[in-house]
Amino acid sequence: MITIIKKINIGAQPVLSFFKSVFQANLNDTETTNTQNQHKIYPRSEHIISRSQISENALKVLYRLQKEGYEAYLVGGCVRDLLLGREPKDFDVVTNADPEQIRRVFRNCRIIGRRFRLAHVHFGKEVIEVATFRGAADEPNDKQVLNQEGRLLRDNVYGTIEEDVWRRDFTINALYYNIRDFSVVDYAQGMDDLLLGVLRLIGDPTTRLREDPVRMLRAIRFAVKLGFNIELTCEQAIFATAPQLSNIPSARLYDEVIKLFLYGSGLQTFEKLRHYQLFQVLFPETERCLNTENKHFPQLLLIKALENSDNRIMNGKSVTAYFLFAAFLWEPVSQLATKKMAHNIVPYIAFQEAANEILAKQIKITALPRHITTAMREVWNLQPKFDARTGSKPSRLLTHPRFRAGFDFLVLRQSTGAVSQEMIDWWLNFQHADESEQRKMTQPQQRGPHKKFRNKPYRKKTIKNPSSSET
Ligand code: ATP
Ligand code: MG
Repeated sequence: MITIIKKINIGAQPVLSFFKSVFQANLNDTETTNTQNQHKIYPRSEHIISRSQISENALKVLYRLQKEGYEAYLVGGCVRDLLLGREPKDFDVVTNADPEQIRRVFRNCRIIGRRFRLAHVHFGKEVIEVATFRGAADEPNDKQVLNQEGRLLRDNVYGTIEEDVWRRDFTINALYYNIRDFSVVDYAQGMDDLLLGVLRLIGDPTTRLREDPVRMLRAIRFAVKLGFNIELTCEQAIFATAPQLSNIPSARLYDEVIKLFLYGSGLQTFEKLRHYQLFQVLFPETERCLNTENKHFPQLLLIKALENSDNRIMNGKSVTAYFLFAAFLWEPVSQLATKKMAHNIVPYIAFQEAANEILAKQIKITALPRHITTAMREVWNLQPKFDARTGSKPSRLLTHPRFRAGFDFLVLRQSTGAVSQEMIDWWLNFQHADESEQRKMTQPQQRGPHKKFRNKPYRKKTIKNPSSSET
């Protein structure tokens, strides 16, 4: 299956200004400041979240939990995005009911996860994630397990909302929308940071990044998506902790890479990842080529590929993960194939071997699924086939199931100067030509000195007399 993702609609600015004015007016007199827990409660009149913007299914889950006597809040990205006037990607619910209790409330529910046990409540295609408030164990036990680098391997200690806050990553992701009175509860000054446009980790940045290095990728993703700045101590901790990203299981990193590059603003994300030395952990072979690049080709190919996919997403078109990853790894594969050819391996075999080796390395870091790697290989394998423009080969190529992607990849390579415009024009004409025109186009051309020479009757060369009157 091809990974196809569409971009959500974004138009935050006017709403953000509205939010700012409401927020500033109330900054000093927000009436409920609990000195014990230092939290602020923004009543319904002081924020812009309306139930009409919340998914009906999420509301059903919240009301149902409340009816059963549990606390129930929306939390995380959905609260953050609604406060910024953005359309949330998904709705996450948090409650004091434990996973078993949640399962008893909802028939359409499945418990998932090992690191964090969660309930998924299914409504057709929509899934509402329901988590239990997470607590902190006084010391690691079988419910909360850290490895030697301080990474959390398991975290199933349940707690209260006050404890749950400190398990979350950024202050702006730790705002709770309470279904009981429609207020927003803020324990970590997330509202202030939302207004300042700052991504601030809750607690000590180095410890929090060591606990879960994926938070570094989340920082980059949110910084780009929201146009926020990463707070200075968090930035410093990212530089220091970047290599630890390599300890994350490859399946989880693959999921994160998809979120980084296939939701729009991929180019900006790529630049930020390189700045924070994180791209080299995710795609070390590509980074090596970027550092030794010749005439900027590899970088240009990546930039063009990311620009194209960002534009497609902006225009509501689909983008495919395999095409982008084919662009990311094209240069490492080409360079390795060239090396192999220098050792007298025939081009076709050299390319196959290079693709195998580079993909095998990449899969260990980001577990690209087989359907993705198969499609990447097909796109790569098609590239030399565009050189053959005589006989029956071009017509056969047109019927290849991956022709469109292969040709788009050729066009991408042309935009970096690696393929001639004449070749692209020929293939464009050939695709639109009728059968007889196609036949003419694929006739072996009668050109070149040898062919002309062969067609003409042989005539002995005569040496002209330089003094003759004809000269
Ligand atoms: P979006 O869904 O828009 O990508 P999000 O913030 O909702 O952003 P999710 O992955 O849906 O991201 O997570 C929901 C919430 O769970 C987060 O807002 C955050 O509070 C918490 N969370 C998620 N991942 C982590 C993590 N690695 N460490 C700590 N808290 C996390
Ligand atoms: Mg979310």
